[in-house]
Amino acid sequence: MEINIVSDEELKKKPDFTNLKFGSIFTDYMFSVRWDAENGWGIPKIDPVSSFQIHPAAKCLHYGLQVMESLKAYKGIDKNIRLFRPELNMERLLQGAKRLVLPAFDSKELIECIKRLVKLEQEWVPDLKHAALLIRPVYVGTDPTLGVAVANSALLYVLLSPVGSFHPPGFKSASVYADPKYSRSWPGGSGDLKLGGNYGHTIYIQRAAEKRGHHQVLWLHGKKNEITGVDCNNIFFVVRNESGGIELITPPLNGITFPGVTRQSIVELCQNWKDVQIVEKTITIDDVKKLLDEKKLREMFGTSSACITCPISSIFFDGSKYDVSTVKQDKPIYDRITNALCDIYYGRADNPWGVKID
Ligand SMILES: *Cc1c(COP(=O)(O)O)cnc(C)c1O
Repeated sequence: MEINIVSDEELKKKPDFTNLKFGSIFTDYMFSVRWDAENGWGIPKIDPVSSFQIHPAAKCLHYGLQVMESLKAYKGIDKNIRLFRPELNMERLLQGAKRLVLPAFDSKELIECIKRLVKLEQEWVPDLKHAALLIRPVYVGTDPTLGVAVANSALLYVLLSPVGSFHPPGFKSASVYADPKYSRSWPGGSGDLKLGGNYGHTIYIQRAAEKRGHHQVLWLHGKKNEITGVDCNNIFFVVRNESGGIELITPPLNGITFPGVTRQSIVELCQNWKDVQIVEKTITIDDVKKLLDEKKLREMFGTSSACITCPISSIFFDGSKYDVSTVKQDKPIYDRITNALCDIYYGRADNPWGVKID
C-alpha cells in the first residue's frame, strides 16, 4: 500500500463533534485502488481527500455502474475502535459488484485497508453517545465508452465521515407516508443491493412525503401492498400473538427486502431472547390495519447502521392516518435492541461482532 502523508499544517481542523450534519464532513485521507482489464488491480493508496479526474463518458456517470456500502467505526468505552461485522458489508459490496459485472476484490484485504485508513484517522472517531465515523466504500465502472456494456476499468475508494446521532435533536418518532404508486424494489430488480441507482429515484417521493409533513417513506410492493422497508431502513413490527406472546416480525429476504446487517444482527440476537419470538414473514398494509383494529400491533420501527432503530408512530396511507403506539410502550423492544447493539458497537459487551481495528 502506498500512503501519502501530508504535514500537520495541511490537516483540517477537527469539527465540533457534538454538532455534526450527517455525512457533510470528511476526514483528511481516503483510500483508493484502480482496476483495468489489461493490468488488473493497481497499487492500493491512501491519499489526502481530493477531487479526482474522471472521463465525462465514464460508465458510472451514464448507466449507474455504481455500488456502495455504509458501515461505521465506533470508539469504545475501552478507547478501542471497532467495526461491526465488516465482512457482511464486504460480502454485500461483492454481490453488488457481481450484478454490475465489476471485478471481484479480496474482501479480507479490503477490510485490512479500511482498518489501516481508520487507524490513520482515529482522532476523527467521535467519542460520544450514538456518534461514529461513517465508512463509505464506493465502487464504480470508469470505462470511458458509451456502450451499455461491461466496464473495462473501475475505481474502488473509501471515504470517512464523522457522524452524530442520525436523529435530529428533539426527534421522538417518525410519521411515514406510503404511496403504492411508487416502489423501491421489485422481483428481478436490484433492491436487495446497495447500487446507487436504487436511491436517486426515491428522492422524489421522499420530498413528496416531506411536503405532506411526514418524515419518511414506507415502501410498498405489488397489488397486496407488501411492506418492504422504510426510507433506507429495514422494518420491524412488534405484535402480540394469539397466546399473548410477543412476536418480532420482519419481511423475509425474498429479493425485494434489503439484507441489512442490522436486520440480520437483530434476527440473530432475538433468537436468544426467551420472551420474544422472531418471525420472518411478509406483512401487508391490510395486515397492519387488521393488527391495529385488534390492538395487537405494539411497535413499528426502522433499522439500519445509520439510525440503529427509528420508532414509527403513524402511517399515512390512501387518505387515512393510522397511529401506532410504538413510543408509548412501557419497555419498548426497539429500545432494548438499540441498547443491545450499542453495547456491542461501543465495547460494553464482549462480542466477536465488534472487530477491533488493531
Ligand atoms: C443500507 C440500507 C439498509 C440498512 O442496512 P444496514 O446494513 O443495516 O445498515 C436498509 N435498507 C436499505 C434500502 C438500505 O440501503
